[in-house]
Amino acid sequence: MSKKAFLIDISECVGCGACYEACKEQNNLPKTSDDPLRDTLSDKTYTIVEQRGDYYVRVMCKHCEEPTCVSVCPVGAFTKTDIGAVLYDESKCLGCRYCMQACPFQIPRYEWGSLTPRVQKCIMCYDRVREGNLPACAEACPTGATMFGDRDEMIKLAKQKLAENPDKYYQHIYGLEEVGGTSVLYISPVPFEQLGFNTKLIKTALPNFTHEALSKIPTLVTVGGVLLTGFYWLTNRKNEIAREKFEERKNKRGEE
Ligand code: SF4
Ligand code: SF4
Ligand code: SF4
Repeated sequence: MSKKAFLIDISECVGCGACYEACKEQNNLPKTSDDPLRDTLSDKTYTIVEQRGDYYVRVMCKHCEEPTCVSVCPVGAFTKTDIGAVLYDESKCLGCRYCMQACPFQIPRYEWGSLTPRVQKCIMCYDRVREGNLPACAEACPTGATMFGDRDEMIKLAKQKLAENPDKYYQHIYGLEEVGGTSVLYISPVPFEQLGFNTKLIKTALPNFTHEALSKIPTLVTVGGVLLTGFYWLTNRKNEIAREKFEERKNKRGEE
């Protein structure tokens, strides 16, 4: 299957929150706010719509072309799939949360309240897309502000919109080159810095730097590996104890 991407046209977004609601429903996520525009990203909310001045901006995982969450994860819990979606495998996760530190868009969230915590974020509705459907958020958008399709087609469409409407759009496609490119592209009527986007991000894929840096400091990598193993053991032990206590309490209740 070809590589996919979102094209988000900020000029078309009316802040209705249909994408937010559809994501909640699709992923069986509980209600976390009465007002979609006031919610924040969390382990129970994979996308939000924020009002920034006169405009509305969707926030979600950007499914980077060369994701740092993938490159920093010491056990390969994250993978970049052929369709472009960046997925997470909880069975491999150590709980080190390097992915959260490394993400240039501060996206992954952790299930702090869980006995067996996982990292959570948008998964590009991977199963739906694989079956030939649109992601739930794109399907729900009533205005065409959230579009989805082949990445090449989305880039072509974005360029066409900018060329045909030079007065309507600021002449930049955010995500085309930032951090080596992403699978969530934005076009906007105003400069992206006015909307709070990080416009200082480099054009080179960040994993190039992490690989280069790590290869130059083998000692640190070794020490880091030892520390991680210890951390993994501690996290697992903590979870085991919590589980044992939970079982104990359950058994006690059963005896009463
Ligand atoms: S936005 Fe962050 S979490 Fe999403 S793919 Fe890029 S680095 Fe990974
Ligand atoms: S692609 Fe799916 S998981 Fe991601 S924000 Fe849209 S509905 Fe949610
Ligand atoms: S559904 Fe479309 S118009 Fe409504 S908030 Fe989401 S992106 Fe904007």
